[in-house]
Amino acid sequence: MSAVLKLYNTLTREREIFAPIDPARIRLYVCGPTVYDFAHIGNARPLIVFDTLYRVLRELYGADHVKYVRNITDVDDKINARAAERKISIRELTEATNAVFQQDVADLNCLPPDVQPRATEHIAEMIALVEKLIANGHAYAADGHVLFDVPSMKDYGGLSRRPLDDMIAGARVDVAPYKRGEMDFVLWKPSKEGEPGWDSPWGFGRPGWHLECSAMSHKHLGEVFDIHGGGIDLVFPHHENEIAQTRCAFGHDVMANVWMHNGFLQVEGEKMSKSLGNFITIHELLHEDKFGGRAWKGEVLRLAMLRGAYRQPIDWTVKALEEAEKTLQRWYALLREQKPEAGELSEPFLDALCDDLNTPKAIAELHQLAGAGEADKLLRAANLLGLLHDDPASWTKTAADIDAALVEKLIAERLDARRAKNFAESDRLRDLIVAMGVKIMDAKDKQTGELSTRWEVG
Ligand code: AMP
Ligand code: ZN
Repeated sequence: MSAVLKLYNTLTREREIFAPIDPARIRLYVCGPTVYDFAHIGNARPLIVFDTLYRVLRELYGADHVKYVRNITDVDDKINARAAERKISIRELTEATNAVFQQDVADLNCLPPDVQPRATEHIAEMIALVEKLIANGHAYAADGHVLFDVPSMKDYGGLSRRPLDDMIAGARVDVAPYKRGEMDFVLWKPSKEGEPGWDSPWGFGRPGWHLECSAMSHKHLGEVFDIHGGGIDLVFPHHENEIAQTRCAFGHDVMANVWMHNGFLQVEGEKMSKSLGNFITIHELLHEDKFGGRAWKGEVLRLAMLRGAYRQPIDWTVKALEEAEKTLQRWYALLREQKPEAGELSEPFLDALCDDLNTPKAIAELHQLAGAGEADKLLRAANLLGLLHDDPASWTKTAADIDAALVEKLIAERLDARRAKNFAESDRLRDLIVAMGVKIMDAKDKQTGELSTRWEVG
């Protein structure tokens, strides 16, 4: 392996050379959805970003040497509330929501994780973890609840590095008489009749959200693993508390060596929210005419997402989707023309991805390959990003999609440029025409030397 993978680690605030615990068994955990409602377009970001990381790790270490776990949170107060509101059972709600979620991620061409553990299938592991924390002196039972004793952990807060006052203010949101310390958080809480619950040493109850991820990551990846990911909003308190639970239960200095967080997505310059009316689900984007008045292919969405560096905020616009679509049309046109087999993997492309998943740079390299007509290398590299897996024929435009007058105008301009021997301009115009989904054929009259161009769809 020539490329060296470097990843930005939220834990150290540094870009580090990735050193796997065991190169034959790379372990990655990403916090998955709470299945109470359709996934929105912001949720698509960690799905696509960490799928890309998974693909890069598989490329570098071999597909059989990477284990990717993404959980499904199917017990949560938001789920209970929504099921009550819709007057359906919790099981019905979580099953239906999960089915749509699985379809969404497949449409975005995300590989299925190796394990998708469900919280409700890991209750015994969660109870065992809480018992361990109580035995270790890091948790206490009070009033049917079990709380994590934050002051019992000397270096609590090392991931978010928030000032203590901030953390206390955040934790004050749920003041409760059974809490010893202001920052203590819930591991287990009692369930009322009608609420989902399980028998436990502390009575009938259910787990806290943070506990779920600690129990599931431990079960499937062990006490210490390589990479833990999620959106930036999860750093505090969710990831901080996962770390507290896992480290205090098993007595290690870290839970995962590398912590990665994607930046947030906003829509046309504004925070996405239901009240602003710019809230959009993946399902709506792909199957309804809600964004820009039309539906979009999953691959367009994926490319638009990867054009942004994963740690930066991204602005979701119709224009960005249109640009991504044009790019894909151009690339698929090249595939139709050359019908290549996947070639060798471009080194600058892999280097870009190894540079903390620099997808904008990697995509610039794809443009370079397409521009040079190296369709075989383009196909190989794009496939690694989860792109260009489609049948090129399905991206063919029909005559009705094409603005014939515009094609004629561009062809005339291109002929003028060629007559003036301005080849840079004629090449630029050629690219534009091809990008419209049009094939052009040049001819030169043997007698007069006059240039002409024919065109057809395809
Ligand atoms: P949630 O369902 O809110 O727990 O979110 C699931 C995942 O999506 C988490 O990794 C969040 O950090 C991430 N996420 C939620 N909203 C956004 C957003 N607007 N932009 C990027 N990531 C987000
Ligand atoms: Zn989690």
